[in-house]
Amino acid sequence: MDHSTVTTSRRVERLVTGQPTTDGAGVKLLRVLTQDLQHRLDPFLMLDNFASDNPDDYIAGFPNHPHRGFETVTYMIAGRMRHRDSAGHEGLLSNGGVQWMTAGRGLIHSELPEQEAGVMEGFQLWLNLPGRDKMGPPGYRDIQSAEIPEFSTPEGVQVRLIAGRSHGHRGAMDRPVDAWPTDPHYLDLHFPAGGAVFRQPLPPEYNAFVYTYRGSVRIGETVVPRGHMAILSNEGEGVQLQGLPGDTPARALLIAGRPLREPIAQYGPFVMNTREQLIEAVEDFQNGRLA
Ligand code: FE
Repeated sequence: MDHSTVTTSRRVERLVTGQPTTDGAGVKLLRVLTQDLQHRLDPFLMLDNFASDNPDDYIAGFPNHPHRGFETVTYMIAGRMRHRDSAGHEGLLSNGGVQWMTAGRGLIHSELPEQEAGVMEGFQLWLNLPGRDKMGPPGYRDIQSAEIPEFSTPEGVQVRLIAGRSHGHRGAMDRPVDAWPTDPHYLDLHFPAGGAVFRQPLPPEYNAFVYTYRGSVRIGETVVPRGHMAILSNEGEGVQLQGLPGDTPARALLIAGRPLREPIAQYGPFVMNTREQLIEAVEDFQNGRLA
């Protein structure tokens, strides 16, 4: 398939507004992908957007907490966050960088701001693991901003390719599809002012959504304003997005992946296939077996 040929585009099936909430030790954020959408957007489990220039909203961060059974992908637009985990990993996430953490059978980690003032803005996406990998080894990768492939389309849309394939490029996270059946695509799209078009081929079975975090973008007849998620219909050859005419640039995330179609059982930071596996996860955590 030609990389930019999308003659029939997906439509916006539903427009969702991010829900204000707090998590960790009182971090204010917008929960964009909520638990009730986990089946519709399989393999994605959650998307949070944090954005504030008030340190009271973020300073307490996310002290030690466990995870099991999925991956967390943290994309920092602005700010600095220190990560430490029980497997001995430590890293600093800063402007434009990504941390891709595979919880696997489990770890305990902290995510703490390393700044006392200024803007903290970014996203955390939860990506499910197939049942066969949920008890695999934990791991993580810090991807500095400069390591993220970037390109511009002839129309002038700037693309940061965190994962997946687009216009002949491969993302910073690039695992073989047989080892990573969800084949996640994670694109950060920067539209210049003036209504440039961006097209991304996507197999119709992949679940996909767009989240606008600057300005507005248009998909078909639907405008997706800042702070809104568009769930895309499963049809056609891909998706066509467009900046709005006029003088306002826009930025949006395009996220897509192949669904696992497995049962989803979640209890807080544990995501497994069955209730029995959740009970085991809680017991392992309480008995110090995740540390
Ligand atoms: Fe965490």
